[in-house]
Amino acid sequence: MSDPLEFVKPEVRALSAYTLAARTARVKINQNENPFELSDELKREVVEEALRRPWGRYPEFDPRELRESLAAFASWREDGILVGNGSNELIEALLLVTVGATTRVLIPEPTFTLYALLTRVLGGEVVPVRLDPSLQYDVDALIARAREAKAALVIVCSPNNPTGGVLSSDEVERLCRHTEGLVVIDEAYHEFAGRSVVPLLERQRNLVVLRTFSKAMALAGLRVGYLLAAPALVREIDKARLPYNVNFFSQLAALAALRRPDLLEAGVARLRRLRDALIMELGGWPGLTVHPSEANFFLLELHAADPKAVFEALYAKGVLVRDVTSYPGLGRCLRITVGSEEENAALLGALEEALRKAPVGRS
Ligand code: PMP
Repeated sequence: MSDPLEFVKPEVRALSAYTLAARTARVKINQNENPFELSDELKREVVEEALRRPWGRYPEFDPRELRESLAAFASWREDGILVGNGSNELIEALLLVTVGATTRVLIPEPTFTLYALLTRVLGGEVVPVRLDPSLQYDVDALIARAREAKAALVIVCSPNNPTGGVLSSDEVERLCRHTEGLVVIDEAYHEFAGRSVVPLLERQRNLVVLRTFSKAMALAGLRVGYLLAAPALVREIDKARLPYNVNFFSQLAALAALRRPDLLEAGVARLRRLRDALIMELGGWPGLTVHPSEANFFLLELHAADPKAVFEALYAKGVLVRDVTSYPGLGRCLRITVGSEEENAALLGALEEALRKAPVGRS
């Protein structure tokens, strides 16, 4: 009998799956989630509305009302918006309609690993471009490599996960103008940076913007993301979207969140203050570098202490951060998500002790 795995594409068998060890902790700051829940009042409104709906019926084929609300919220045309089961699903839909066996996709590294994983699953070729030595984007290097490789897509996460750096609007515009392919900007964390390239959509027809309700909007558990692009491009990407991809409960929750931009703004302002305070505090500690970040997370680079030992010491104290030592160029780094006031205080206490006791060494 033949081995069933022979029928799996060799490029897929060569990959490691996107996984996260099933750890949990009192202070869970490993997934860039929002520590501040939507209000009970808003949640109750959603549940009440859900109770009035038939659960035995499919949701709307096209979540029209949600797209209309998003159009007003994001200031972009409704027919240029696609809603997904998290933005992950829209990254997949976009790559499904653009990547085949000979497609080159330019991806900075280190960045969110899903772009390269899905590109490779689809048989495309990843063209990596390293961030500069201070872990910032070098837009000229991106343009040069994209042109040289004749990349069909350039995918840039801004602010970047896990480094926190951004591309400015001018830089994105230059990227759009000077490359032939599509320019995809993943704005999963844009609220924390207070900047967006959505206004460029009006004049850059090769620009695609991805956004999510999972971070600033505090709805990671309900899986809602959206994509913004020129309507003609959106119609093509929509062909790879699964029918009824966003369940009605999640649609209701997203609509409720959009009804309260005041709560969103207050939550983002609070997290930005907490981020800046945490970065300022840690910036004065010996033995480490805190990389500047415009997101709700930042990188901690340990000069002498072994990062894996520090990770475990923090975990033993109930603080779960992200070990990013396997990312290219981040062998001495941990990624910290900004938590609530109490969580950040717990992190500082546990980190101080961990650094005092940690063995010196490379990860
Ligand atoms: N893009 C980036 C850069 C992310 O960090 C994440 C989540 N970690 C996603 C997209 C996926 O978000 P969603 O929950 O919307 O699928």
